[in-house]
Parts: sequence; structure tokens; C-alpha cells
Amino acid sequence: MTTSAPTTPTSGTTEVRELGHMIDGVAVPGVAERKSDVYDPARGVVTGRLALATVAEVDLAVAAAKRAFPAWAETTPPRRAAVMFKMRELLLRDADRLTAIITSEHGKTLDDARGELMRGIEVVEFACGIPSLLKGELTEQVGRGIDSFSMRQPLGVCVGITPFNFPAMVPMWMFPVAIACGNTFVLKPSEKDPTLSLEIAKLFNEAGLPKGVFNVLNGDRVAVETLVAHKDVAAVSFVGSTPIAETVFRTGTQSGKRVQALGGAKNHMVVLPDADVPMAIDALMGAAYGSAGERCMAISVAVLVGDAAFADDFVAKLATKARALKIGPGTTPGQEMGPLVTGEHLAKVRSYVDLGVTEGATLVVDGRDFRSSESPEGFFLGGCLFDHVTPTMRIYTEEIFGPVLCVVRVATAADAVKLVNDHEFGNGVAIFTRDGGAAREFTHAVQAGMVGVNVPIPVPMAFHSFGGWKRSIFGDHAIHGPEGVRFYTRIKTTTERWPTNAGGASFSMPVMK
Ligand code: NAD
Repeated sequence: MTTSAPTTPTSGTTEVRELGHMIDGVAVPGVAERKSDVYDPARGVVTGRLALATVAEVDLAVAAAKRAFPAWAETTPPRRAAVMFKMRELLLRDADRLTAIITSEHGKTLDDARGELMRGIEVVEFACGIPSLLKGELTEQVGRGIDSFSMRQPLGVCVGITPFNFPAMVPMWMFPVAIACGNTFVLKPSEKDPTLSLEIAKLFNEAGLPKGVFNVLNGDRVAVETLVAHKDVAAVSFVGSTPIAETVFRTGTQSGKRVQALGGAKNHMVVLPDADVPMAIDALMGAAYGSAGERCMAISVAVLVGDAAFADDFVAKLATKARALKIGPGTTPGQEMGPLVTGEHLAKVRSYVDLGVTEGATLVVDGRDFRSSESPEGFFLGGCLFDHVTPTMRIYTEEIFGPVLCVVRVATAADAVKLVNDHEFGNGVAIFTRDGGAAREFTHAVQAGMVGVNVPIPVPMAFHSFGGWKRSIFGDHAIHGPEGVRFYTRIKTTTERWPTNAGGASFSMPVMK
């Protein structure tokens, strides 16, 4: 079997590329008999065959990262930052090419793909500041002639396991910070859109990152389970669905690893009767249907507070816009929504729409019959809108991860808070109102990790940290920003005294004098 270096697929062709791994700075074809298909979702055709790592290949990647660790950890933070500065330059140089790769395997529009790449680059920019971020603390005179100082040192081999929905941004939440802190890294991207990660590994070579510091290992459950149990792995960052996040957290911590595992979501947007309605509707449209709803911070529930007349008017306006969504291949200019990632995922999301009808919700906008005239074989679904959804319905309790928005009607703001807080997930939440007091009360009481006030998708910037609450996260650390630096380092505190005349041996606990 041969593996060609990944290239950007050309729209309109059906070239099928063989995809492997990048280990120790070189392309490794992969020996596995098991392979998985990579699709162009807009055309519904296979464009890649991905080798799924064996246990031996996992060992190879971890061994490369382990070998590279001592020298990289000894590389000074300013030198590590210099590689990140170079990496930022290369990512920006190649932004058009990388954006096209994201769209070709995920399906999102080119504008959206560029947006996620830029949000990832912002984490690289944050990591460029590593000399400042790693500054420790010092207390002079903790005792007479004695000083104490704390420093943060890297952990060793860190692993990142990432989902399909942000093939650039989510891996980039992890490895820039991990590597800048002095760790080495093995990235296991989603098998649905793996090419971007392989390209990033090549750019790291060009940026002068020593071989073995960043490795890409493609695979499925076998790779994940082997990595999470591996004796030479110090820490695991996982982002994906809740059942896998919980398993990765449990098995990783059982074998003594530090683990942060971010899971699924059901994000609510609460609209109070005094909200700027056109603004709230535009915000909902982008947050519910952008990226075909395949975002962990997508709004999938609109909570309309107030009387029936307010909700009826709001839903009517929303439905008009949802019916007018521009849907088509992500490469076609002017589209608002592309296809879903695979045919299998399309079938799952469509089955949730069927379920909602069976459960008795009102399907105001039905996107199930949508076909793209430009690309009839693509994995497209039209925007769907349910009204009169109740908290016991499965379309409300479960994450659908598609362009399906549920409207729940409640009487008061307090009811809205209770609804949000009773949900098992607690990733993001938003409130739309002109009332500062109501917004403050909501922000204080709501149980979610990221809150937006008149901001529908409150994803924190790279210099803050990203993370939900409840079953949207397992582990104590959110991702990137200051929490990322803490996750990828451990603290060492030194207490030092330089010999003067210490006054002889002491056999009792030293106390403050
Ligand atoms: P997923 O859980 O299916 O896959 C995530 C990773 O786990 C992939 O690398 C995959 O190869 C691996 N994996 C899949 N099945 C596995 C198994 N049985 N054992 C071990 N590993 C396995 O998630 P997905 O469908 O790729 O992504 C969508 C999910 O990710 C949604 O639930 C979404 O909410 C979540 N997500 C969460 C965040 C967040 O920040 N909380 C961000 C992005 C996506």
C-alpha cells in the first residue's frame, strides 16, 4: 500500500487519496487492513481512505513523542515561542488552502471554515506569549534568609483526541499550549476529516519544530483506548460526545493520567419579552443553523418567555427566515449552510425530526425533503424548526447536532432558569434582553460554563478558557487560556537558603520567628 502526502482535493474530481499518519516528522502510510472512508459531504462521494492505527502504530507515535520530550522540555520558552510565531505566519500564509481542506471534508461554508481556522490561530498567538505565561511566583523572606519560589514545568507526552465538527479549531485549542509549555504531543483527529491535522504537522516541520514533538495518529476506538491506557502518556485532552468523554475520563484517570474531557451540549437561548426581536432572531438563525448546527455551542433550544402572542409572533418571524435559508455546497459563494458531515449523520438527524413529530411537537419548518439542485447527492438537510417542545421530549433532552431548533415556551424568567438548570448539559447559554438587572440575575443563577448576554455563541477568546459545566465536561480544567497552561504543566515550589551561619541542627518543625 502506498500513501501519498495529502493534497487539497480539487472540486469536481473523484480522486481518492490514501491517508496515513505523521509520526516523528515523516508521513507513515499505516499498515492497517482496517480503513475508513473520508467523504466530500457536498458531493456525497468518497475522497479519501484513512488507515486506522494499530496498537503497534500507537506505540510508535508515543515512543517518538517520548524521545523528543527531554530536549524540547529543555528548550527555553523564548525559543519555543519563536516556533509558534513562525507557525502563526505559515498558517496565515496557507489560510486559503487550509480553509478549502476543511470545507472539502466537513462541508461547512468557506467563510465559516476560515472563521474556525482564525479562532485556532488565536490560540497559537496566545501560545506565543509563553515566556510571560510561565512566569512563576516568588516570596522573599518566608523565613529569615529563606526565599520560596514556584515554577510550572511540562508533564511529558500529551494526547489530544478531537471531534469532526472543528477539524482546525478544536485541535488548536490543545497542541499550541501543550507544546509551548514544553510537552510533546500526539493528536488523534476525527476519522471523518483528518487531512487538516496532517497538513498542520507538515507546517510544524517547516516552522522548525523538532521531529517527534508533534505527531498525528489517525484511528478509531483502538487508537483511543490504547492512547488513554498507555503508560508513557501523561495527560489526555478529549473533545467529543458525552458517553466517550466520560469513558476517556474514567479510564484515563484510573491509569493515573491528568484528563480533561469535554462532552456534548444542548444550548439554550432565553428571549425575554423586552428583547430586541429582530436582533434576537438574526442571532438565533446564525447560532442554530450555522455550520448545519454541528457546533457544540450551537443554540438548539430557544426559550421564549412571556405570553402566547409574543411567542406566536416570534415563531412566525423565525419560520419565515428558516424557510429562506441559503443551503448548498460550502464552496458556493453566498451559502449560509452546507451539508451534514456524513450520510450516516444525516440519517440520524433526520430520524430525530421524525421522532419530534411522533412525540407531538409542532414541526413548523420541515427541512427533511430538501435537495440541493447544485449537488443532489450531497448530505443536505433543510433547516427544521419545532414549536411547543416540552422538557420530557427526547428532541429536547438529547443532543441532535444538526440544523434542528426547538422552541420551548415558558411564562417567566425564573421558569427559563429552572429549565436550563434542570438539563443534564451545561455548555453554553444566552439571554437576550434590554434589562440589565434581569441579565445580571440570569448570569448569576444559570448553571452553564459559558454565558452570553445578547451574544448567542459566547465562545471565550484564546486568552480566556473554554469549558462547560455538568455533563458537558469531565475533569477540573477548562481548555486553552490560563486553564490550558495549568493543565499542561505541574507546579514545583522550591524553598531555598544560602549557607551563612545557620546555627546548628534543628530537630523540631521550623516555625515562624
Ligand atoms: P465522537 O465522540 O463520536 O468522537 C470524538 C472522538 O472520539 C473522535 O476522535 C473519535 O474517533 C473518537 N471515538 C469515537 N467513538 C469512540 C469510541 N467508541 N471509543 C473511543 N473513541 C471514540 O464525537 P463527534 O461526533 O466527532 O463530534 C461531535 C460531538 O462532539 C458532539 O457531541 C459535540 O457536542 C461534541 N463537541 C463538544 C465540544 C465541547 O467543547 N464541549 C466541542 C466540539 C464538539
